Parts: sequence; structure tokens; C-alpha cells
Amino acid sequence: LRTPDFWHKENSKRCYEKAKEFLPGGVTANIKHFPPYPITMKRGEGAYIVDVDDNRYIDLLMGYGALALGHGHQKIKEAIEEQFQIDGTHLFGTPHEKEVSFAKRLQEHMPSLEKIRYTNSGTEATLLAVRLAYAYTGKKKIAKFEGHYHGGFEEVLYSITPTISEAGPGENPHPVPESSEIEAGTDEDTVILPFNQIEDCKNILRRYKDELAAVIVEPVQGGFIPASRSFMKQLREVTKELGIVLIFDEVKTGFRTGLQGAQGFYNIKPDLTALGKVIGGGFPFGVVGGKDEIMMESSPNKGKDLFDAQTAKQAANKSDVLFHSGTYNGHPMILAAGHATLDVLEHEYHDTEKRTNQFRKALEDMFSAYGYPMITVGTGTIFSVVLTEKERLINYRDFQKTNLQLRKQFDYCMLREGVYTKPLNRYSMATVHGDDVIESILQSTERVLQRGGLSPI
Ligand code: PMP
Repeated sequence: LRTPDFWHKENSKRCYEKAKEFLPGGVTANIKHFPPYPITMKRGEGAYIVDVDDNRYIDLLMGYGALALGHGHQKIKEAIEEQFQIDGTHLFGTPHEKEVSFAKRLQEHMPSLEKIRYTNSGTEATLLAVRLAYAYTGKKKIAKFEGHYHGGFEEVLYSITPTISEAGPGENPHPVPESSEIEAGTDEDTVILPFNQIEDCKNILRRYKDELAAVIVEPVQGGFIPASRSFMKQLREVTKELGIVLIFDEVKTGFRTGLQGAQGFYNIKPDLTALGKVIGGGFPFGVVGGKDEIMMESSPNKGKDLFDAQTAKQAANKSDVLFHSGTYNGHPMILAAGHATLDVLEHEYHDTEKRTNQFRKALEDMFSAYGYPMITVGTGTIFSVVLTEKERLINYRDFQKTNLQLRKQFDYCMLREGVYTKPLNRYSMATVHGDDVIESILQSTERVLQRGGLSPI
């Protein structure tokens, strides 16, 4: 950042140049790109990752939160090796036992998941949840919150990172397309809500109640800005009153905001839940679960006996059943990795959360000692370092007003110290971030703050 060759990472630079010949922008997901060029990694082990120039980093990105046990955990290796012996890679394509045992296990943690379907990503999970809500209600609009991310399909690609000047009034935000090819004009199908502002939300929901199939929400925005308890409670009440399906997108918060997810943390029963990340143990995975009568929209024959003549006749009418399929749904290797992940988390989650809280406190004390106003914002095992004089954040607009430039500069300085995160991202803690690793991050932080390198860029 200070010089074009800030990194001095020759091999990463070479990899990037080569990648650009084959991959648009040199990356396979736009989010992987950051200036001057992304760092190419070659190895991960526990809390550490190693780049192609042989620099070692403590990893705080942890696969955008997907790796709750760190890199290459022994229990995951054993589970997939064992599964591989049974199954090769993907022999089945049929029902198998782990589909049921894993569903049962998720339900034990989140009793709202009365029935479950598997997908191959968080995006597919939120997409199926939204479609289930359309099918169940017969309505065609959804409402989402400003600054909330739910994956890469049309209806939710609005107002994730809008500039405030184009986003309209705070109490009634305008939908702002997040991608080319998303028409500003299609906004009639996506209504935007302001997070943590319940009276404004109620006004908007009442206005659109006859057309809204669902409200989809990250109960903890971006995995770090929590809803207030009273906001969540009232959002549950008003959606119930208006006959709107409430979808919790717990792709980030599942097994990170406690072992019962955000729904346990808030003690709220959503109608539908989307999960992903942690439960796949590092593999591509998603889950949709929720109320029996909504989930049954996707059941062949709506759960009735196939051999009943009348049902069989109805089943022939495909448009009665919500389409849901996928070659890899319920992939045995991924379910094996998911089981192994939960085996470990059920024992180690609480210690990880405790260490996360101690780490947050130590960071806050250190920033304060060096005269930088900073708060950590988060729940469970994810949080963000936010440079602000405020005591708390309530939503996207609030976050935009914090010192993002300074935060970015801090991240670049930490990268130079060997602490990895994508600039501006959250910190995702894993069971492998032990006291020694945290101490080492704190020493790096102190060196950065001591140097006083954090002047505006
Ligand atoms: N919802 C949330 C809250 C997410 O954080 C993400 C991914 N960051 C998604 C949905 C999409 O998941 P995936 O990247 O697995 O498609």
C-alpha cells in the first residue's frame, strides 16, 4: 500500500500474473482479490498458512469462517479417509445413513429444523429457503436488510455494500443493485429493511404484507453486528402476525454464535434456517431446515404414500412440488467431515469462545493504551476490529461511518507481521487458536501500534 511493491512477495506476484492469463482478474471468486495482488497460499496447518514465498501466517480468515477447527484437523482427516474406504469419492447417489444421522444431530442443536434438505453451498441454501417461502405462501416478494449478504442470486443481490448517497433515507432504504445485470427496475420484488430499527421495519412490512413471502435476515449482520434482543423478538412477532415466513440466514452464525446458532442465542424460532460454512468442515455444503409444513413443499408427493392412486395422480402434476435436486446433495464425504467437526466442537466450542472473549478484551485494552479508539464487535467466535469512538454499532450505515481506511491500514500492517486476514474482514477464531497463538497476535498488534504506523493512508 505504501509502495506498489508493498508485499515483496515475488512468487505471489508471479502466480497472480499467470492466473490472469486463465482466470478473470486472476481469481476464482471476486472476493479473493485485493491490491496490490492477492497472496497465493500453498499450505495450511492448524492455525497457520504458508504462502508460495514461504512466509508463514497465523490465519484469522479461516476460510471466511468455514474452518472452525483450523487447517487439516486430524479428526476430519480420519473421518474422510474412513468414508473414502467405504465409498470411494461419491459412490452412492442414493439415500444413505449419514444423511439421517447428520440431520438428527443438527436438529438436536437447533430444534426449529423439523425437516432438513442438503445443498452444496450457502447460496443454494438461501435460494432454496426463499423458494420454499414462495411456494408456501403463494407470494412473490422478499424483504432483506441493508448490508446483509445471502449469496449470489438475483433477489438478494441488492444493497449489500451500497454507497449511502444512493441508498435513500435510513428509515426506508432503496434497493441498490450489487451487480451488473441486476436491474434497478426489478426492485419491486426485493424490499430493503433497516437493521435494528424495528418501528421502521414494521412500517415497511405492513405496507408490503400482502406481497411478501419472506423476510430473510442475518441475525448477526456480516457475522459481527448483532441484532438487539428486542429487535429480534419483535421481528419474529410482526412476521408471524403478518403471515410472512421468517428466514434466519445462519451460514456464518451456525456453530459460531454458540452451538445452537443465533436462534439459540436469541431464543427465537425462525420458520426456516439456512446453514453452511462450519458444518461442512471445510467442504462445500449447505443446509435448509425448518417448519415441517413449509419444508414439505419440496417433498415428492408432499409426503403422502406413493402407492395411493390419487396421490400418484397428483404427483404427476410436477408444478405442485417445489423442485429441489442436486447430484451431490448429502455427499457422504462432506457429511463425514461435518460429523467430525461437530464431534470436536461439542467439546471445544466453549473454550474457543472463552479465548475469543479474552482476546477481544486484550485487543481493546491495547488499542486504548496506544490512544486509538476501537471496539471489537461480534458474538461467539467471530468478531471485527472497528475503529470508532462509538460504544456500539447497530447496522450497515453505522459501520460505514467508522474509520475503515485506518482499519484497512492496520490489516496491511498485520499482514506484514505475519497475521493473515483479507483486509477489512472479520476475525474467525478456531479451536487451534490457543493462548500461545493469541499471545503472538497480540505481540504483533503491539509492534504495529508502537510503530505508530497507523496514520491515514
Ligand atoms: N449467507 C451468508 C450469511 C454468508 O456469509 C454466505 C457466504 N459468505 C452465504 C450466504 C453464501 O454462502 P456460499 O459462499 O457458501 O455460497
